[in-house]
Amino acid sequence: MRKDNRKIALVGTGMVGMSYAYSLLNQSVCDELVLIDIDKKKAEGEAMDLNHGLAFSGSNMKIYAGEYEDCGDADIVVICAGVAQKEGETRLDLLKRNASVFRSIIQPVTTSGFNGIFLVATNPVDIMTRITWQLSGFNPGRVLGTGTTLDTARLRYLLGDYFRIDPRNVHAYVIGEHGDSEFVPWSQAMLATKPVLELKGGDGQGVNKEKLQEITEEVRTAAYKIIEAKKSTYYGIGMAMNRITRAILGDENSVLTVSAMLRGEYGQRDVFAGVPAIINKNGVSRVLPLSLSKEEEKQLADSCKILRDSYEGIF
Ligand code: NAD
Repeated sequence: MRKDNRKIALVGTGMVGMSYAYSLLNQSVCDELVLIDIDKKKAEGEAMDLNHGLAFSGSNMKIYAGEYEDCGDADIVVICAGVAQKEGETRLDLLKRNASVFRSIIQPVTTSGFNGIFLVATNPVDIMTRITWQLSGFNPGRVLGTGTTLDTARLRYLLGDYFRIDPRNVHAYVIGEHGDSEFVPWSQAMLATKPVLELKGGDGQGVNKEKLQEITEEVRTAAYKIIEAKKSTYYGIGMAMNRITRAILGDENSVLTVSAMLRGEYGQRDVFAGVPAIINKNGVSRVLPLSLSKEEEKQLADSCKILRDSYEGIF
């Protein structure tokens, strides 16, 4: 990884890609940002627009619309490109079309000589991350997806609000598929060092389990609600991607619930799923093994099975 010039190549300059780019600019996360899209004119327009904001940003980032050859010396290639679901189209058909979009992206990126880290946000993100790994032939540690990073942020926010505690002191994760089978392993949820399940409610009784269930449901359905209200979600995911990027470029060893390949952890193999992992300049340095209860282990196994079955359905 180059230390002197932190370079990111972003493929897909739609709402998600540009929300990410905008937050990179505002936080001066990198020195060079290349925007790539099948719609070149859009990438050019987006580069112009961001460049016109540079003077107000306190950053001297080099931003331009480019080509896949520009990925050769990038530290991270971030993929937010994808096609939207057509009316009447099944989830599997959409998956097949997105798999074909990724074939048109990964091959030229690797041909460019790119030797950094792939970060994937395109949905269904766990499957698209696995496809990226398979097409690139990279070491699995260097291919990660946004996984349940955003879902975990939503959970910490809601728990912080409920318990009236700064979300930064809430340590709880959403794990598994970024989608309907994701879940919260409550046995591992802590406020500072106090397990949430051991907290007392206002009446001196145990914590209100129904409320925790409500919170899980709210996290799981958050994206649907936003999509219903404003058609798509992008700011939150853009900032989650920014957070992962900073963990990589800053060699932070931060724990984030990215989509990582499981290689025996939690008894799972051959699947990418959202799990807490240590992220540094090498990508996923290691998956953190949580002490899940038997029931939570089963929930994770079920979620991984859904992901494996979807992946196999593509071919
Ligand atoms: P969008 O339609 O606004 O943007 C998609 C972009 O991809 C477009 O600019 C399009 O031109 C480009 N594109 C399409 N095919 C391409 C190709 N072959 N090569 C290069 N570029 C290509 O969509 P969006 O709202 O930005 O969403 C992008 C993806 O992010 C979607 O798959 C969406 O579901 C996903 N998403 C993920 C999360 C998450 O938590 N992981 C959250 C929100 C959205």
